[in-house]
Amino acid sequence: MQPSMFNVRVPLEDRNEVFLMNTFTDAQLIVSRDVADVLDRVGAGDHALSAEETEALATLQENGFIVESRESDRRQLDQFFREFRESCEQLRVTVLTTLQCNFACDYCLQGDHGDYNRHAVKMSLETAERVASWTEGRLDAVSPESMVLTFFGGEPLLNLPVLYYLAERVAASCSARGVRLMINIITNGLLLTPDIVDRLLPFGLNGVKVTLDGDRETHNRMRPLRGGQGTFDRIVNNIRQVAHKCRISIGGNFDESSVDSYPALLDFLREQEFADKLAKVAFKPIIREARAQKPKGYIPLTAVGTSGKPLNGSCMTAAGTGTNACSNCSFLDEKISYLREETIARGFRTVDGVHMGPCEIHKRHAHTIGPDGSMYACPGFAGESTTSTGHIDGREEEWRNRAAERFERLAAWKECNDCAFIPVCAGGCSVASHSELSDMNKPNCHKPSFESSLAALAHQAAREMAPALAG
Ligand code: SF4
Ligand code: SF4
Repeated sequence: MQPSMFNVRVPLEDRNEVFLMNTFTDAQLIVSRDVADVLDRVGAGDHALSAEETEALATLQENGFIVESRESDRRQLDQFFREFRESCEQLRVTVLTTLQCNFACDYCLQGDHGDYNRHAVKMSLETAERVASWTEGRLDAVSPESMVLTFFGGEPLLNLPVLYYLAERVAASCSARGVRLMINIITNGLLLTPDIVDRLLPFGLNGVKVTLDGDRETHNRMRPLRGGQGTFDRIVNNIRQVAHKCRISIGGNFDESSVDSYPALLDFLREQEFADKLAKVAFKPIIREARAQKPKGYIPLTAVGTSGKPLNGSCMTAAGTGTNACSNCSFLDEKISYLREETIARGFRTVDGVHMGPCEIHKRHAHTIGPDGSMYACPGFAGESTTSTGHIDGREEEWRNRAAERFERLAAWKECNDCAFIPVCAGGCSVASHSELSDMNKPNCHKPSFESSLAALAHQAAREMAPALAG
């Protein structure tokens, strides 16, 4: 018998108590210091407990804070990841309707820069038909209770015929099989209209995620049109037109230059009449390709095997949807917590920063489909063709099979030793590891971010929960 490796704790100094959480069972308790000491004593092999302490220990055991052995923790973890991967409860399909984009974001290699849009692939109706047939095959094979269909890009609303076709046909397929369908759209919001929402609602439109990268001035700098024109006012106006019809989430990508403008954005959103309709507001750092500074006078050499251009085609907006995807900078870790507190302070719902994963790359029945029918392990890898894991037409190609095997083996957390956050982190965002560390199987660690989020969660729990255990 010993304390679980997934126990985390936050001392609540002002109450002389301790917040305990087990990241595997998700049990959360506020206990007296004496009870926390019992955990430590059991860990040190001291089993001479009083009757009261034995009772407290039983409650801790029931909630997973005490386990049989370290091996049992490890066994349970392996089983959890296996079950998470193989779960048939939900089928998730993300479709990139196009890689074209009407924005020229300064942090994105794609979008309306140069002649990118002229060559960027757009899904044809013929391919959409094959995507729908393939999806029907998956619905029959998996028999899920629910399905999530997400439209993404590029900018997904630049290809409405494909989006409407797929929404209608998949809705019919799900309805015929008694499967609940939820449709999501991740868009820059410029082309979002009430007509689009009205047309998709009967098919199961669940939510629309729109990106605002800071206050008006900052957003207009970060996400302009090709000619440099700002997009903030039009996007906000579009949100205003549809916020009463469907769930709108606001996302945002920040870096050192833009992070300080977010409180002003939050103030602005709070003042809008649609503020209380917003389903979620959550910001994350921008993933950037790791690029060495090139000293003047050097001839650049490209190392064979580096990742080249990560995210080469899919919109950088969504990479790291778990918000655990970010750069290596601890400054940004601190800023995530800071922005979360600012968001909560204005009464918006947001992510808590602890319950972040594992993300969908670890699920067998989660697929991302590019505009040409190529399949990817997650939206963050879409568009980098060498990472394609298959094709909806079932073609057998050695290089795709090899990529599929690489993703099948993906288990960055195995290098995380005894980290207590493994069940909610799984080694971090693989796209960020691929992009920043040139190895998707390496952990992309943001432990300080988990720790500060945990502290915030503990203090919130302390405000809401009565003490559960006293020694
Ligand atoms: S690997 Fe990163 S981008 Fe892909 S689903 Fe996970 S968090 Fe999102
Ligand atoms: S990446 Fe870091 S925080 Fe995440 S499980 Fe590994 S060691 Fe823990």
